[in-house]
Amino acid sequence: MAVDSALSSPLGPPACENDAKALQFIEEMTRNAESVQQRVLAEILTRNSQTEYLSRFKLNGAADRETFKSRVPVITYEDLQPEIQRIANGDRSPILSAHPISEFLTSSGTSAGERKLMPTIKEELDRRQLLYSLLMPVMNLYVPGLDKGKGLYFLFVKSETRTPGGLLARPVLTSYYKSDHFKTRPYDPYNVYTSPNEAILCPDSFQSMYTQMICGLLERHQVLRLGAVFASGLLRAIRFLQLNWRQLAQDIEIGSLNPDITDPSLRECFAKILKPNPELAEFVRHECLKDNWEGIVTRIWPNTKYLDVIVTGAMAQYIPTLDYYSGGLPLACTMYASSECYFGLNLNPMCKPSEVSYTIMPNMAYFEFLPHEPDSTGVTLTHDSPPKLVDLVDVEVGKEYELVITTYAGLCRYRVGDILRVTGFHNSAPQFHFVRRKNVLLSIDSDKTDEAELQTAVENASRLLREFDTSVVEYTSYADTETIPGHYVVYWELLAKDSANSPNNEVLQQCCLAMEESLNSVYRQGRVADNSIGPLEIRVVKNGTFEELMDYAISRGASINQYKVPRCVSFSPIMELLDSRVVSAHFSPALPHWTPDRRR
Ligand code: AMP
Repeated sequence: MAVDSALSSPLGPPACENDAKALQFIEEMTRNAESVQQRVLAEILTRNSQTEYLSRFKLNGAADRETFKSRVPVITYEDLQPEIQRIANGDRSPILSAHPISEFLTSSGTSAGERKLMPTIKEELDRRQLLYSLLMPVMNLYVPGLDKGKGLYFLFVKSETRTPGGLLARPVLTSYYKSDHFKTRPYDPYNVYTSPNEAILCPDSFQSMYTQMICGLLERHQVLRLGAVFASGLLRAIRFLQLNWRQLAQDIEIGSLNPDITDPSLRECFAKILKPNPELAEFVRHECLKDNWEGIVTRIWPNTKYLDVIVTGAMAQYIPTLDYYSGGLPLACTMYASSECYFGLNLNPMCKPSEVSYTIMPNMAYFEFLPHEPDSTGVTLTHDSPPKLVDLVDVEVGKEYELVITTYAGLCRYRVGDILRVTGFHNSAPQFHFVRRKNVLLSIDSDKTDEAELQTAVENASRLLREFDTSVVEYTSYADTETIPGHYVVYWELLAKDSANSPNNEVLQQCCLAMEESLNSVYRQGRVADNSIGPLEIRVVKNGTFEELMDYAISRGASINQYKVPRCVSFSPIMELLDSRVVSAHFSPALPHWTPDRRR
């Protein structure tokens, strides 16, 4: 389609008129980042001026930045707990937002072991939709012809609950996939998925994955891009194929879904799609039977141009495995978002993962940046002396900041917990490298385990050793992603006072389970419902191993006075040292407890 030259974009020649409008929107927002931010803040403050929360700070109707910054404190989730609890319990008065809270989005961040509850309002769906609508126009600048085929995306809904006051609580993507925005999206030739809505919306994760995989296989030649939200999700799909290809091939051969797929809407949908195809079944068997799965993605889906998955932040650990299965296809990280707010997008999505920068879209919320010293342990904030936060357009290239947001849904000066480094600007909007999430020690999928949680888990588990007069003298941990799904490994050095009565394998297995029971609900959900995390492993190391670890660190320049045992390790020489001292390994023998309901 010829595109009106008046609609051409500095980002590049748009693929179609719709794309031209989207790119123009990006240009407008990023050129006018400062005025858009002022407008967003004024809108939020004006509409929420009568809320209980903002009234506390006596803004007296002021909607300007200076008054806002001088009166409203910077907060964390814990500070908002009382308000969130009241909303959850059914208080419908305008506590945080003048617009009614439509539901809670359950973040993968946790507070006291449970998912955080993020209040949201109806119109936020439009804002999320708007950000999604910008992704393909940008991608089309770099990868031509995406309208000639489809995307095989493994997308899932997760369980939802209701708060005591009756509001739904569910992950943001579940909310989005179940919305009309997604379900009745208009046809867009550049954004056609192989997975039917019925498969994406099936709440049973096995049936959902199974049917999405069948569709991907049926249309293998049409697939131009393969994706999931996170790298871990795509690898889980590959593992699923490894475990289930025989049954999948059988269903394809006879043209009928096996009886394990019981969801009536899926059966009805596949009665129309699935026809006997012995040739394809034979191909699937032939490829999957091979011992070597290197490059399997491009063998099964030969026209794939890139993998669309987030591999920044904690997900970077999966890059080598993705490269192995895909034969080194480009990895595209397209967006940066959270339950609290969708932040921005990558304007150069085909760049190398290490070079990914996200451009924050100034229309999504009001953004501030708390300067972060890379080596400091954190900035102490008191409400009496507000810290100096920097505005979106004033951040400096090369510096690191913690992201602080003020949203339409009523979060004010809320610390997201992400550390970002400025890499440059697109027009006047800064671009950020995602450095890390604060305080996260271990992560396999969407779980985020911090040092305090690990410490409590070790303490709880080590109680089981008391009757053997044994204690854990030191420990560290490691996220092992070599197997799919990955799992937590915890190295223990034990002190057994009576070697004749030291704990046996069974006891140490129970210690693994006790640790899992102590970990947060996102971890346990990953173990129980999503099968995205494997059984926790304890590796007992020889006595003296942690002293050797310290000697090693000191030999590399660590100060002997300040040396602290790292509670998580990933550096190869250290892993090698630890693994060479392992005397026994033990796995959790059962699943920990998890239900969708919250403990509190
Ligand atoms: P949730 O609220 O559970 O959706 O988690 C949101 C968090 O996931 C963000 O605050 C980030 O820490 C992380 N995250 C989201 N998108 C990305 C990305 N593109 N790269 C790295 N981390 C991300």
